[in-house]
Amino acid sequence: MSKEIKLRALTGDRPTGKLHLGHFVGSLQNRLVLQDTHEQYVMIADVQGLSANAQDPQKIKDNIYEVALDYLAVGLDPQKTTIFVQSMIPEIAELTIYFLNLVTVSRLGQNPTVKTEMKEKGFDTSVPAGFYMHPINQAADILAFQARVVPAGEDQSPMIEQTNEIVEKFNRLYGPVFEKVSMLASHTPRLMGIDGKAKMSKSLGNAIYLSDSKHDIEKKVMEMYTDPEHIKATDPGHVEGNVVFSYLDVFDPRHEEVAALKEQYRTGGLGDVTIKKRLIEVLETIIAPIREKRETYAKDPAQVMRMLEEGTKRAREVAAQTMAQVKNAIGINYFS
Ligand code: ATP
Ligand code: MG
Repeated sequence: MSKEIKLRALTGDRPTGKLHLGHFVGSLQNRLVLQDTHEQYVMIADVQGLSANAQDPQKIKDNIYEVALDYLAVGLDPQKTTIFVQSMIPEIAELTIYFLNLVTVSRLGQNPTVKTEMKEKGFDTSVPAGFYMHPINQAADILAFQARVVPAGEDQSPMIEQTNEIVEKFNRLYGPVFEKVSMLASHTPRLMGIDGKAKMSKSLGNAIYLSDSKHDIEKKVMEMYTDPEHIKATDPGHVEGNVVFSYLDVFDPRHEEVAALKEQYRTGGLGDVTIKKRLIEVLETIIAPIREKRETYAKDPAQVMRMLEEGTKRAREVAAQTMAQVKNAIGINYFS
């Protein structure tokens, strides 16, 4: 019987904090689908995390475990998805070195993701070189596994573009080793922060985490920005730019009811507390089972680390095969 050949998918997260609702809708939900249709690799990007946290490796170390717990809690299945730790695959670092020669410094400076993140993280002219070149490192992450699909949020599309430029240049110079990569965007390519900022992000402190308690959710939703002109329930209010409604649009499956609530809010007669209570209930319904599963896995940290170790071992074999192909193509396999 011939074995079905599945395309490879790869994504990852920096272990700079626990995962949040932005990760859930931007990427994790698609990964749950891909683990059945693709040969999926999910990477905990500690090397990338360190590029902006070199002074605090303990934070990165602690969060490797937290992110692994989040993965298991949302339903990534280690039997279907190879979950691994980036720094334990030296082939990725090696591949990065060769890719660095294929990209100019000025091209890196034009990358919108890098520009935005430099601003987010408060780097001015003091950006670490490792951070600046991380689109190349990311291309190496993807191509070390010869992945064809990357399920990610909208902020990642310049990264995929950069990866494909590297594919083109590498193949032109050394022969056809890599294939183009495509991004699988989600229905919600960008979830706003609870503060109304464009993007929910760990480092912006505006996130609802998949591990948040019901109390945390209540507190965060109650503090959400709605409409400053909507003072009394009877006042007409704005739905656009209203964080509570934008979350209901994403998370509440009862679309018709949400549409009716919006109408009522616009004309007046619907209080902020009513819609906030609804959102709390909607979010708790999503997060409660994740939180419970997370607590179960957290009872056996050694098993979580074993799962990562096994995944990393499998991942390394694949990356080593690619590296051998790369060295053959460039012609630098001197002793074999
Ligand atoms: P950091 O603050 O360290 O940058 P982050 O919260 O922005 O962390 P990343 O590690 O940058 O998270 O992102 C991991 C993945 O999750 C990427 O695919 C990204 O597109 C997706 N993602 C992160 N935040 C959101 C969001 N608010 N909406 C949609 N997708 C998101
Ligand atoms: Mg980010």
